[in-house]
Amino acid sequence: MSHARINLYDLTREQLRQQLVRWGFNGVHAARLWAYLYLELKDSFDAMPDLPAKVRTRLAAEAQLGLLPVALATDSSDGFTRKYLLTLADGERIETVLMRYSGRVTACVSSQVGCAMGCVFCATGQMGYTRHLTPGEIVAQAVHVARALRPAPGHPDPATPYQAAPPRLRNIVLMGMGEPLHNYDAVMHAVDILRDSGGLALGAERITLSTVGVVPGILRLAGEKRPLHLAVSLHAATQAERAALVPAAKKWPLDELMAACRTYSERTGRRIFYEWTLIDGKNDSPEDAYAVGRLLRGLPAQVNLIPLNPTAGYAGAPARSEAAKRFQKILADEFALPSTVRQRRGIDIAAGCGQLAVAEAHESRAGL
Ligand code: SAH
Ligand code: SF4
Repeated sequence: MSHARINLYDLTREQLRQQLVRWGFNGVHAARLWAYLYLELKDSFDAMPDLPAKVRTRLAAEAQLGLLPVALATDSSDGFTRKYLLTLADGERIETVLMRYSGRVTACVSSQVGCAMGCVFCATGQMGYTRHLTPGEIVAQAVHVARALRPAPGHPDPATPYQAAPPRLRNIVLMGMGEPLHNYDAVMHAVDILRDSGGLALGAERITLSTVGVVPGILRLAGEKRPLHLAVSLHAATQAERAALVPAAKKWPLDELMAACRTYSERTGRRIFYEWTLIDGKNDSPEDAYAVGRLLRGLPAQVNLIPLNPTAGYAGAPARSEAAKRFQKILADEFALPSTVRQRRGIDIAAGCGQLAVAEAHESRAGL
């Protein structure tokens, strides 16, 4: 059945060439096939007339385009955010978010079905872990967003506020469901496919990976010098406070995490983004800001403050905007630390940070 078929989105360009050669075809066809997959974004082998019929027949028999059918698409009233519920071959579902910023589009991509890390304020953590995604399932989310951006002839996308230039997929953030460094090999393989300059060409500065702080993964990334932006979810500046929000901190304590971050920045010369979900009365005080400043002193860093988004399983409230401003000012004035407060997007459709969960699937499973 379809499970035994090769998912073409699992393959790098070189692997695709090797596959064609293994089937006895000339490797030159790989270039055309690659362009069909990633430049023309074709959705069937029949739509690839430049490939010899024999190649197409073999592909149809043994391979598949692992496009992910849309179970549900929801638009946010902010006019910039659309959330897709996508169906995987085994019936599991994941969420992918399309975010528009003045003509550029960022895709927020999932790396797992659920997540094993259990952060208390995160909807994905609250649903638990089901499985890793394959490289092809990660790549297919980006392909889906790229395809969704193509204007249908005569039907400009009503959700596109910028009609002047067609928006294109510019950036990928691995900040959807799941912990990407828990699924390291598949994620990095997908990243290599996404970066391919002859394909989606989402190069070095275009991909940001956010981790809860999986120390071995950060060290591995430091050794490989893969050109990604790294974001590390901090949320608290002491081990005890952090472990209460992020259970994974018990496995990878704060001092080990900070040592790994230092190694990463030293080896790669790259700055790390440190994410801090701002929770009212919990981690948004001036003392907290001073503690972050001290923790990050001497490191190439930028702090991303994310006012808490509501989730069913956590009662906390987002920090007030005055608290966020005060936090930022302390980081800037006392520690020369740049910071941003993440724009709230898609909150009404639960597409904000940490709100992604597949409620229907979750409920039906719970009802069994
Ligand atoms: N697993 C990765 C990436 C996905 S979450 C990680 O944890 O880093 C992306 C960011 O959203 C993380 O910084 C995460 O801590 C944050 N986040 C999770 N739940 C949130 C919520 N309810 N409100 C605001 N931010 C949240
Ligand atoms: Fe997993 Fe990240 Fe959510 Fe924590 S915040 S549960 S690591 S997806």
